[in-house]
Amino acid sequence: MAYKFVDNYRERGARKQLVEVLRKRGIADEAVLKAVGKVPRHFFFDETFWNQAYRDIAFPIGDGQTISQPYTVAYQTELLHIKKGDRVLEIGTGSGYQSCILLELGAEVYTIERQRNLYERTIKVLPYMGYKPHFFLGDGSKGLPQYAPYHKIIVTAGAPFVPDLMLKQLTIGGILVIPVGDEKSQKMITVIRSGENDFDKIELDTFRFVPLVGDQAW
Ligand code: SAM
Repeated sequence: MAYKFVDNYRERGARKQLVEVLRKRGIADEAVLKAVGKVPRHFFFDETFWNQAYRDIAFPIGDGQTISQPYTVAYQTELLHIKKGDRVLEIGTGSGYQSCILLELGAEVYTIERQRNLYERTIKVLPYMGYKPHFFLGDGSKGLPQYAPYHKIIVTAGAPFVPDLMLKQLTIGGILVIPVGDEKSQKMITVIRSGENDFDKIELDTFRFVPLVGDQAW
């Protein structure tokens, strides 16, 4: 596959504007905004749609899936409070954009996707762009126990409940961010593991994600 990736003044300018849109919408973490300002989101789009890449919208990426809205990516990332060197598990690699944002923040990223086509695309495109998460193909609704524990877990698809198996894969002090609800709308939930068997749950804003499909999901 031959890639033709160009990142010129037009795309860089559009990216700066996107950062300002996110700031106005309430994203306050400068490190997250800086990461959004660095990752070339248009690389995840067919060239025909590059003019859509820096709008604050979700966009179809094929196989019935979407690249999440930049605001949603920034919102979830902010909730994770990423520190350099954090081991982060992402469930739902999709386009790979969220993985790039986490890598820009200095995380070591483990990312799992259940759809083979998407997995095969990201294992080629991300390293080409210089981003190197650990890629996995499979059902992430059970987490990824073989590499646990993680400082942070982010689920980028809508779950019917918080899977227990994921909670057990957090370090003490670790944070899980997961949208939970029905197929039409989900509440963003953060769970902090405050002790071996203690979990503090906070319910936040409403979003609409594609469903988390799997053994511990829909
Ligand atoms: N993080 C992505 C990005 O940056 O483009 C957006 C992800 S998209 C909204 C949700 C993804 O979750 C889809 O690619 C879908 O195939 C995947 N997914 C759904 N259920 C899954 C599961 N059980 N394990 C792994 N991936 C899953």
